[in-house]
Amino acid sequence: MTCIFCQIVARELPAEILFEDSELVVFKDINPEAPVHLLIVPKRHFDSLNSLDELTAQIGARMFLAAKKMAESLGIESGYKVLINCGREGGQVIRHLHMHLLGGWGRKPVRR
Ligand code: 5GP
Ligand code: ZN
Repeated sequence: MTCIFCQIVARELPAEILFEDSELVVFKDINPEAPVHLLIVPKRHFDSLNSLDELTAQIGARMFLAAKKMAESLGIESGYKVLINCGREGGQVIRHLHMHLLGGWGRKPVRR
């Protein structure tokens, strides 16, 4: 069976997708730990950061750039964090490489 992030990429499972290009999908974390909590996910399945090598390292660069662009587009570029958990002992629960983008703590509530 394919992993749940592969299923989200394939639109077999729902997710709030905010951005997509040929290599990445960005969607909201289902259990947010910050006002903004997004997951930056390569479309290609890699088990973890340990799966990257010289040939695939570019995907890591793309993930960082996507984090920066998402932070800008959401107006949280003044302060945010990125995090990759790697391996069970490193806190990785979903075995499909992903980067957390966390921020929005200083955000003012939206006024109507
Ligand atoms: P990890 O601990 O593997 O680095 O992080 C996995 C993250 O994926 C967690 O923050 C968790 O809330 C999120 N997550 C797990 N299952 C789903 C899901 O089905 N949909 C979405 N949008 N996020 C998920
Ligand atoms: Zn996968």
